[in-house]
Amino acid sequence: MRVISSVTEMQSISMNLKRSDHSVGFVPTMGYLHEGHEQLLDAARANHDVVILSIFVNPLQFGAGEDLDHYPRDEARDRQIAKAHGVDYVFLPSERTMYPTPPILDIQVVRRTDALCGKSRPGHFAGVVTVLAKLFNICQPDGAYFGMKDAQQVAVVTGFVEDLNFPIEIVAVETVREADGLAKSSRNANLTKQERLEAPAIQQALKIGRDAFMNGETSVEAIKQKVKTFIEGETHGKIDYVELRSYPELEEIALIEDHVILAVAVQFKKARLIDNVVFDHTGTVVKG
Ligand code: AMP
Repeated sequence: MRVISSVTEMQSISMNLKRSDHSVGFVPTMGYLHEGHEQLLDAARANHDVVILSIFVNPLQFGAGEDLDHYPRDEARDRQIAKAHGVDYVFLPSERTMYPTPPILDIQVVRRTDALCGKSRPGHFAGVVTVLAKLFNICQPDGAYFGMKDAQQVAVVTGFVEDLNFPIEIVAVETVREADGLAKSSRNANLTKQERLEAPAIQQALKIGRDAFMNGETSVEAIKQKVKTFIEGETHGKIDYVELRSYPELEEIALIEDHVILAVAVQFKKARLIDNVVFDHTGTVVKG
C-alpha cells in the first residue's frame, strides 16, 4: 500500500492505471475510519483491480460554527485499517495541496438540496461536489463508493455525475450499524456517555415511522410527527429535521408511492447525527 499526498503523483498513477486497463474503485472519506468505511472498501476491493481510498477533511463542506475544528482524526489507525482491507493507494492531500489558490468556480447544486442536510447546511453539497469533481479527476475511478447513511449525498452525487457525464459508476452501500442500531459515524466519538445511550432512539424512531405507514397511516405529517415525538421523548438532542420525501428526487410528497426516504438529523452537544430509511409503497426497505 502506498500513501500519496501529491496531486500530480496521484493523477499520474491513476492515468497509468487507466492506460494499462486496470479497473479502479474509489472510496472518498474524511478519515477516522470505522466499519461503515470498511464496508465501502470491501465492496470496492471485490469489484476492482485497484482500490484508492482518499482521506481529506474538506473545509468547503463545513459551514460556519460546524465541527470542522473538532472533526476526529487518527491517520496512523486509518492507514492500518486501509492496509488490512486491501487498499492499494491512500490519497491523503493537505488542504493547501487541494486548494492552493481560491477557486474561480462556485458550483451550485440546485436540485435535491432544498430539504434535509441541504437545507440545514447551506453550501454543504456545493462543497461536496466541488471536492468530488477534483478527486474524480485526480483518481479517475471506474466506480466510486458511497454509504446510504448519507442518502442525500448519494442522490446529489448520482445526479452530479449524470449531469456532467463523468464516466464513473456510483455505487451505494448499505448503512453499517452498531449492535444497538446506531448508525456508525466518525461523529459518534463526540457523543457524551449519556448521549451515546440515547442515540439508538434515532433508528428506533425511523422504524416507528415506517411501521406506522405499514399499519395504515398514510399522512406524511402524522408519520413525521410520530418520529419527532419518539426522539423528543427518548433523547436530550435537538431535532434538526424529520423529513419524508421522494427518493432520490427528494421532492415533497402527499402520498407514499414508489421510493421514499424517511430521514432524521439530531443535534447533540458536540455531534450532529443523521440517519434514514428508504422504502417503497409497500413499506419494504430498499437497500443501497
Ligand atoms: P465520511 O468520512 O463521513 O465523509 O464518510 C465517507 C463515506 O463513508 C461516505 O460515503 C459515507 O456515506 C460512508 N459512511 C459513513 N458512515 C457509514 C455507515 N455507517 N455505513 C455505511 N457507509 C458509511
